[in-house]
Amino acid sequence: MDYAIAVLPGDGIGPEVTAEGVRVLEAIGQRHGHAFRFEEGTVGGIAIDTTGSALPPDTLRLAKRSDAVLFGAVGGPKWDDPRAPVRPEDGLLAIRKGLGLFANLRPVQVFPELIAASPLRPDLLEGVDFVVVRELTGGLYFGRPKRRWTTARGRRGVDTMAYSEAEVERVVRVGFEMARIRRRKLTSVDKANVLETSRLWREVAIEVGGDYPDVELEHMLVDTASMQLVRAPSRFDVLVTENTFGDILTDEASVLTGSMGMLPSASLARVPGQGTRAMGLYEPIHGSAPDIAGRGIANPLASILSAALLLRYSLGLEEEARAVESAVNRALSDGARCADIAQESERTLGTREMGELIVSLVR
Ligand code: NAD
Repeated sequence: MDYAIAVLPGDGIGPEVTAEGVRVLEAIGQRHGHAFRFEEGTVGGIAIDTTGSALPPDTLRLAKRSDAVLFGAVGGPKWDDPRAPVRPEDGLLAIRKGLGLFANLRPVQVFPELIAASPLRPDLLEGVDFVVVRELTGGLYFGRPKRRWTTARGRRGVDTMAYSEAEVERVVRVGFEMARIRRRKLTSVDKANVLETSRLWREVAIEVGGDYPDVELEHMLVDTASMQLVRAPSRFDVLVTENTFGDILTDEASVLTGSMGMLPSASLARVPGQGTRAMGLYEPIHGSAPDIAGRGIANPLASILSAALLLRYSLGLEEEARAVESAVNRALSDGARCADIAQESERTLGTREMGELIVSLVR
């Protein structure tokens, strides 16, 4: 088959790690008989420099006509002026909105070889393998009114957490679909003892659960979930939650694996079913890492694992996705390390070397 993939490398280490994600996809294409057409667009700081906009219209058009987007990272000190009218991160928010990417998926898997890099006790990390599905375009970050003003008795601020039934339903469905292709357990995280939106969330989750009798649904308050994520992380399979809760829980969860350079993410615009395809944007969870940009030492595995998610969720190529993930597992168990995940005495690979190694291992 023929697939169109928009490549948006962005700033800092974005271009370095994305190049390796593309190389691994090319290798998969050759070995499995697919034609991937890559087309590059600008986003973030580099787009501000060249066009004045963090997401030029051409880039959004390119993304819209593609099957999927492979994204690098945006931002850096050059564009950090708080008075600047436009910031690189605006590009990321605009593309999420422009493509209607309402579900953000972050798989968290602890690689046995990297347990020493985690701040948690090794026995707690055994068997940790879960996915957080975060609602991405609603909730507290987008609800209106949202403003600050001054009253006779001092300053006030307001944010609003609002959800419609339809917004909750579609993201909860993503959670159920994920659980269905995994260990069939979904934890819906809310704050139903206090918040009305959470009570709606819980009600809708139970209703949608009627369509998934094969998936075990549990409800957990967000405070309990934040505790369980460090106390017993291996108990989770799939978690689904509100935008702000998800933002906080996913950062907490990312620490389990020990390095930012390892974790991929997917943002989807449709509920993916088994064997079906959904438009999505795939990116490492890390930023543009200006402190190491241009030195060829960034770990490309988060980008390469994002490419695996792209194969799975947007192109419906499960076998090919697994081939990439197996190659990464194999490289790690053979002792391959970039600087961010290496112990002191270990030899480290550069960005390109790690990419080449994965290319040589994909079957
Ligand atoms: P960061 O994720 O860029 O870096 C945090 C630390 O992790 C740094 O020490 C960095 O060297 C290291 N690191 C990150 N990715 C790595 C990799 N692949 N290999 C090895 N080490 C890696 O976060 P930050 O420093 O807070 O932010 C830098 C810039 O990135 C800021 O402008 C920020 O706004 C932006 N940012 C962008 C995104 C995005 O594009 N999605 C996300 C987060 C931050």
